Amino acid sequence: MIGALDYLHQQGWISLESKQMIEVYRVLQKDIDLQAETTRLHTLFQQKERSEISRLSEMLGFFESDSCLSHRLAAYFADHQAPEQCGHCSACAGNTAELPKPAKPPLPTAEQLQLGANNCKAKARSP
Ligand SMILES: [Zn+2]
Repeated sequence: MIGALDYLHQQGWISLESKQMIEVYRVLQKDIDLQAETTRLHTLFQQKERSEISRLSEMLGFFESDSCLSHRLAAYFADHQAPEQCGHCSACAGNTAELPKPAKPPLPTAEQLQLGANNCKAKARSP
């Protein structure tokens, strides 16, 4: 929400001010196409979410790497003179990190499935 408000402020569409602990805003531009902006912001935040997940995944992959972490980090920062093995990182020491895999969400119970089916039937009956 704060990101969206910051974005609208940067576009000059609202005036965003911090007043004590409460953020307040005033709509400056009256002819905003709400549906188009909603769709655009939704797409923007979906892209940001995917980008952050990808970045975190790359970081986890880095930490789990079995090649020298210092060498990989140096290469990331375009230092191609770094030694292939630093001799003191976990990979060089033969202690490759193995991070716990995320737990899968539990499957719904039979009662939850029945409740969901009942809700769908109730919605289908109502106009
Ligand atoms: Zn190393």
